[in-house]
Amino acid sequence: MANIILLGPPGAGKGTQAGKLVAERGMVQLSTGDMLREAKSSGTEMGKRVAEVMDRGDLVTDEIVIGLIEEKLKAGGGNGFIFDGFPRTLAQADALGALLAKIGQKLDAVIQLAVDDEALISRIVGRADEARAAGKPVRPDDNPEVFADRLRAYYKSTAPLIGYYYHAGDLFVVDGLAPIEDVARQIDAVLTQQLQ
Ligand code: AMP
Repeated sequence: MANIILLGPPGAGKGTQAGKLVAERGMVQLSTGDMLREAKSSGTEMGKRVAEVMDRGDLVTDEIVIGLIEEKLKAGGGNGFIFDGFPRTLAQADALGALLAKIGQKLDAVIQLAVDDEALISRIVGRADEARAAGKPVRPDDNPEVFADRLRAYYKSTAPLIGYYYHAGDLFVVDGLAPIEDVARQIDAVLTQQLQ
């Protein structure tokens, strides 16, 4: 069992890789973005409050996302948790450490998906085009202007987590621009090493 964070800017491939780990290792994906979108579309009070913040590419408050994660941690983690899109701030990182300690668990690895901004922008445009072609709804925050704001939020609030986890000795960097299967192999190698 391993608890890991997938760390990287929006569009780095965190969701794709998390999906593979769920299928192949029976881990549980905790995506705060998915949880917030669910709250938004089901029209809960909290969903209504966060909708506007999400649509303009800003971060939702630490209190809300930490609350969401706390609830999910109580439900148990199968073969370990994959934190996808959480933590996104230093306060969230501290809270996650404390929540895991409370249930007698720890983080086994923080896997940074390293990518460059140009590649991200074309990925995001591609993700919107693909959704359109498949007749699926396009995420309102997957347009180039909002994406630029999401990237700024990443550099301001989330990128400092690279230093935080490097200092803690938990950071592993993989090449997020490699083909999906290669990225998956790199992540697998980290997990196998950490589980020994
Ligand atoms: P994502 O699907 O991870 O890109 O998240 C979509 C949006 O949800 C983000 O742009 C934020 O507005 C919000 N969000 C998701 N996770 C977090 C988080 N851990 N902290 C703050 N806001 C978040």
